[in-house]
Amino acid sequence: MELWYTEEQTDSVRFSIKVDKPLYTGKSEFQRIDVFHSKEFGNFFTLDGLIMVTEKDEFIYHDMIVHVPMATNLKIKNVLVIGAGDGGTVRELTRYDSIENIDMVEIDKMVVDVCREYFPQTTCKLDDPRVHLYFEDGLRFIRSKENIYDLIIVDSTDPFGPGEGLFTKEFYGNCYKALKEDGILVNQHESPYYEEYAKSMQKAHKRIKELFPVCRVYQAHIPSYPSGHWLFGFASKTYDPLTDIDEQAWNSLGIKTKYYNTDIHKGSFALPNYVIDILANEGD
Ligand code: SAM
Repeated sequence: MELWYTEEQTDSVRFSIKVDKPLYTGKSEFQRIDVFHSKEFGNFFTLDGLIMVTEKDEFIYHDMIVHVPMATNLKIKNVLVIGAGDGGTVRELTRYDSIENIDMVEIDKMVVDVCREYFPQTTCKLDDPRVHLYFEDGLRFIRSKENIYDLIIVDSTDPFGPGEGLFTKEFYGNCYKALKEDGILVNQHESPYYEEYAKSMQKAHKRIKELFPVCRVYQAHIPSYPSGHWLFGFASKTYDPLTDIDEQAWNSLGIKTKYYNTDIHKGSFALPNYVIDILANEGD
């Protein structure tokens, strides 16, 4: 008998991966967590039936969410990561000796516990002494923070369930307040391709643009995410990722990456016309 994991990416589109072995299934206070092993993608896990991380393509997402802001400002020392329970974002951040502190706020401890067991590839740096784990709602955590972080990375689920609050105007306003005067905010920005996802990214972009003087969107190809075409938001109080990137300085660090390089950095901000149109058209 064949076993397949099937994800409903829209009402009329499904994406399937042949499963060699189901590894774990559980339900936390916040969401359902499943882990599978597959020949093509290695281990992968889903939250409420949506793929979060696969061993095969996680490097693309984590390279792009971390190295783009880091290469834009290599003086970043204090970082807040919201969500990111699989640990991949923290793993990439710990490659910079210059970073002194990483606060990671994940609402669901069970995600971290399950990932520690099945995803050593991404959780391997969660015990770095610079990393401080907080198991609480990122929306609440950030309310009391003012002028302390150089970089905030929002590595969240989609804008429903526990992740909903992380796409609100209130949250983005609190991120602005928690950032220093030259702070950068990067968030996973959904996909432009299918309508429901495109609406979410359009709304998020509009809200961020109202607050931050620099507001750009960049893209990557992530095969296991809906449509494979994924966006990230880059917002900042001063730095522009296209003019402030110090290519020579970043390359001289000798950080070996499998996806990111400084040419991709610049190229990833070149968007297709239909995406430019969605972003320019403010929606509701
Ligand atoms: N790379 C993934 C993607 O875009 O599909 C995101 C992965 S990461 C596992 C997302 C994490 O955000 C989940 O573990 C979830 O529990 C966490 N999360 C959702 N809402 C949150 C909130 N309000 N505060 C903190 N963490 C949250």
